[in-house]
Amino acid sequence: MLKKKFRSLDKTYTADIILKKPDKYRNIEILTSNVENLITMGSGKSYVAASFKKDNLSLELSKFDRIINFNKQEKTILVEAGIKLHHLLYFTLKHKLWIPQIPGYPSITLGGAIAANVHGKSSATHGSLRNQIKSIRIFHKTHGWLDLSESENKEIFELTIGGFGLTGTIVNVALKLIDMKSYDFITTIEKVNSAKDTIKKLDLNDLENIFCYSWNKTNNSKKFGEGLIFRNKINENSTSTLLKKMEYGENKIHQYFPINLWNKYTISFFQNIYFKYYNFYKKKIFYDNFENVMFPYAGKETYFHMFGKKGFFESQILVPLPKVDIFLNELEYNFKKLEPDITLFSIKKIMDKDLLLRFSGEGICFTFDFTNNKKNINFLNKLDEICIKHHLKPSLIKDSRLNSSTVQKCYKEYDIFKETLLNFDNKRIYKSELSERIGL
Ligand SMILES: Cc1cc2nc3c(=O)[nH]c(=O)nc-3n(C[C@H](O)[C@H](O)[C@H](O)COP(=O)(O)OP(=O)(O)OC[C@H]3O[C@@H](n4cnc5c(N)ncnc54)[C@H](O)[C@@H]3O)c2cc1C
Repeated sequence: MLKKKFRSLDKTYTADIILKKPDKYRNIEILTSNVENLITMGSGKSYVAASFKKDNLSLELSKFDRIINFNKQEKTILVEAGIKLHHLLYFTLKHKLWIPQIPGYPSITLGGAIAANVHGKSSATHGSLRNQIKSIRIFHKTHGWLDLSESENKEIFELTIGGFGLTGTIVNVALKLIDMKSYDFITTIEKVNSAKDTIKKLDLNDLENIFCYSWNKTNNSKKFGEGLIFRNKINENSTSTLLKKMEYGENKIHQYFPINLWNKYTISFFQNIYFKYYNFYKKKIFYDNFENVMFPYAGKETYFHMFGKKGFFESQILVPLPKVDIFLNELEYNFKKLEPDITLFSIKKIMDKDLLLRFSGEGICFTFDFTNNKKNINFLNKLDEICIKHHLKPSLIKDSRLNSSTVQKCYKEYDIFKETLLNFDNKRIYKSELSERIGL
């Protein structure tokens, strides 16, 4: 047992927690037997405090990282939930198979990815991780060991995917794998003049470029959203047969500098350099390797450190297609009025089934990072009002400020999630700061 001070990645919540790392299946049963409340932790890389809360037990699953069974012909793998995504990919890619719904950081665990039902940058083509999951085995303090799938305990299966660990500990998972012809990509860059221009150019029917997302500037209100669209397609003519071992070591993404270094001058400076580099110096089409495309944040942790001790907020909002124009008008209006400091602005498509508390549906996903100050919180509160007014979905796994009232108004299946969870576990054993804040 370890008493530990733990911090959310965005640094807005810090707490003393009890951390335990079981290494045997039996240990999971024993460690949970004398506590009333607990939550499972993956690699603790969520922006929000989703896998811990003050004085609560966090069961950290890093020792459950084995591949139990692999069937190349059937393209299936049974794997323990604590495995880090880069380790999982390194294994499957050697057999020219993979799962494409990969979040942008390598040491995120499979269990954490399932509990947040992640969408990678290919969400318009492949949807969310839900599409690759065949079955899940969980341990729940009162229900014991349960197998979940389309045909067994379906209701809890759906509740567990994107269920923020509230249905118990995901111990192992059977995944359906997809063919991957090559390890290399071809990246194309296109300049866009504004956020509206980005939407026009994000071709909703482009299936060739499996990844497609934008990077938009925020330092010039007259050209709000001028930027670049990145498109990545698999280089099927690549002759490379050797996949570089994806080793990232123990990264220091949670660290921070003593003071915040992001302000309107540094934002402007870095955005101008980045834009000029890609717009004027870099070729418009170039070969890219797997790690660069899949894990854009790996090696760039300084971006997070620069927010300092007070940290930052990320807001990610899913806007249904018919509401995109009205959202952009209100966004631009409020941006000009309140002048927030936005360090990152990115746009991508999401095409997936809308269910329960999942950040999914069909629409355009807008992502913004902000320094933690009053002016920016005012702007974020305005975004909440816009979400409520137009029934847009803010991402629960990204934004630490969201409260239960906003979430209830934005997620039409909030009550269904809450009721089903309560029917399954009337003592509400699995809890985190996130679950309490949003009233679950
Ligand atoms: C740099 C960066 C880029 C990202 N990019 C994306 C992206 O492109 N798309 C996207 O969708 N997300 C993205 N994310 C968010 C990230 O995928 C999620 O926050 C993910 O849940 C983190 O997993 P983790 O292993 O760190 O789990 P933790 O942060 O420890 O936990 C996250 C949630 O999963 C639950 N959980 C973890 N393991 C288990 C388990 N074994 N059983 C039951 N519950 C469990 C926890 O209780 C908690 O609710 C990104 C995050 C970072 C830091």
